[in-house]
Amino acid sequence: MKKLIFLVGTRPEVIKIAPLLRACRADGQLAALLCTSGQQDTLLKDTLRAYDITPDLSFTVWGDLPHKQGECLLRFGEVLERERPDAVLVHGDTLTAFAGGLAAFYKGIPVFHIEAGLRSGNPFSPFPEEFYRRAVDHLSTLHFSPTSLAAERLLKEGIGRERIYTVGNTAIDGLWEDIDEGFSHPLLTEGKKLVLLTLHRRESLGAKISEMLKGVAAAIEGRADTHLLFPMHPNPALRDAVHATLAHIPTVTLTEPIDTHTFRNLLCRATLALTDSGGVSEEATALGTPTLLLREETERPEGVDVGVLRLVGRKAAPIAAAVTELLDTPRPHTPSSVFGDGKASLYILNAIKEFFS
Ligand code: UDP
Repeated sequence: MKKLIFLVGTRPEVIKIAPLLRACRADGQLAALLCTSGQQDTLLKDTLRAYDITPDLSFTVWGDLPHKQGECLLRFGEVLERERPDAVLVHGDTLTAFAGGLAAFYKGIPVFHIEAGLRSGNPFSPFPEEFYRRAVDHLSTLHFSPTSLAAERLLKEGIGRERIYTVGNTAIDGLWEDIDEGFSHPLLTEGKKLVLLTLHRRESLGAKISEMLKGVAAAIEGRADTHLLFPMHPNPALRDAVHATLAHIPTVTLTEPIDTHTFRNLLCRATLALTDSGGVSEEATALGTPTLLLREETERPEGVDVGVLRLVGRKAAPIAAAVTELLDTPRPHTPSSVFGDGKASLYILNAIKEFFS
């Protein structure tokens, strides 16, 4: 039986790999092992627990980007020496995907890249993820692109058509099953418009994040008809800025990250989402929740084209104006399947089986 190692290190990787891991194990024709790098600490552990996934293999990386990258390259290289898999699966644009993919590449083990072909066009945003995904695409053997636009980008960069599969994003697999008709939450019973905010990108930290949050605060403060929920990423630099700009507003709730089931159900019912997250952009597009992207560019323009996502940049005034507009005149939720039909994992599994046959 062919042996695959899935390598993940962050919350979104677990969320997006979980449906494929489940499909592989249910199918039973490939041996699928999950290895974790510990790139994120509590976020990774909490998400694994919520998805009831116990890693088969694990190591830990720590320190700044160069240390984490070096450690991941070496430690995953040791895992590969011991386990000798037939292929390695990595997801997206994380340090783990880059360093783990490189470790496999050095050993001549095929790398299968899930969520291949995304490009913002700006090498510094998202930083360093735009570099990581480009690099992983160019060392991978198979590419699983979420959309035809992503697949076309790979073709333009010289990657062979026979190695590219357009399958949708695994984030959408199981998304609608996660939406619970009987879902209730204290923030939904008070009858206010819910605004869901997430921010975590490294390139936004510092003065930019304070500027963005000032825009959000200007639109929210004094509005009795609105409640803003911000499940905060653990990064202390982010939290300091959030406390300085939002904590004093009575209609703002700042929390620890919330479990994905609750998050998705709130996102589905929110009047408006504000985010710099890739995964939240995809889920919001699928659910049709009007969403402002607090960034200058996106690698997911498909969500903008269908009218669910809108780029508003990082300046306070346009952010405040757009939030106010969408709260005064809420837009209907219009779900879109532009990021997938919910069967991406099955398409990927079939392509991998075909590769080995
Ligand atoms: N998410 C979650 N709890 C939260 C906020 C987000 O489970 O409090 C989920 C969300 O549903 C999405 C994923 O986290 O699936 C997005 O991850 P993140 O924003 O950390 O990273 P990105 O997608 O930008 O790489």
